[in-house]
Amino acid sequence: MPRIALISAMQQELSLVLQHMQHSPASAACQCVGGRNFWTGQLFGRDVVAVLCGIGKVSAATTATLLVERFAVQSLLFTGAAGGLGEGVAVGDVVIASALLQHDMDASPLFPRFEAPLYGRAQFCTNAALSDALAQAARSALAAPAAALGDNAVAEFALHRPQLHRGLVISGDRFVSTKLESDTLRQLLPQALAVEMEGAAVAQVCHDFGLPFAVMRTISDRADDTAHVNFMRFIDRVASRYSWAVLRALLARA
Ligand code: SAH
Repeated sequence: MPRIALISAMQQELSLVLQHMQHSPASAACQCVGGRNFWTGQLFGRDVVAVLCGIGKVSAATTATLLVERFAVQSLLFTGAAGGLGEGVAVGDVVIASALLQHDMDASPLFPRFEAPLYGRAQFCTNAALSDALAQAARSALAAPAAALGDNAVAEFALHRPQLHRGLVISGDRFVSTKLESDTLRQLLPQALAVEMEGAAVAQVCHDFGLPFAVMRTISDRADDTAHVNFMRFIDRVASRYSWAVLRALLARA
């Protein structure tokens, strides 16, 4: 059976996945490679490997490579949080990436700004079928936010009508937390919906190995001067629960 990798950057984001893997009939086994814990097991009868990749592009690329080479995964799904950049991409919304780009890649004037040198491209596309399946699962989870999050979190973060967006997600080794920086990114990359720190690195590794990959990010902040304020609480109360609700809908369905 094809093995699926479930990747997140932060502990809180993976905790529900691990809890459910440990309670599945084929209980999860843990293997530590390169300082990361890879949990192999089953969810809804599907073979999965869950791993916390850590924060940033190098950590994400190392993890993705290990998943491919050591754990023989056949597809990769990344779930986590991101800062909203696009107009109308609000806290509590969900973004599914159609393509990813490294916003801090700049080998100009040798290569155009943002282009991954020697790849002839700046953007790496996600797999359309996997992203469509993820979007369908996200739509069903977002239709009933209280079922995924509980009433308290819905009220605390005023999440009454979360929207689903699909498009460009940008990654870089910076937590974007000033209005100045997010305005600059918006100006340079007007089509970018959200900013995070890992997705484009995993996308490049998946491109290299020819493997399907999809990314879902819950918007935790607007990448502005208040980005850090409720960040960890939001990850715990909202982003991690959406991730689980969407993964559950996706894996249980197929
Ligand atoms: N405070 C955390 C660090 C979070 S870094 C800690 O101490 O562990 C932010 C994480 O969320 C990254 O994994 C990144 O992918 C995502 N993210 C959310 N909002 C972001 C933003 N505004 N800019 C960049 N990454 C963001």
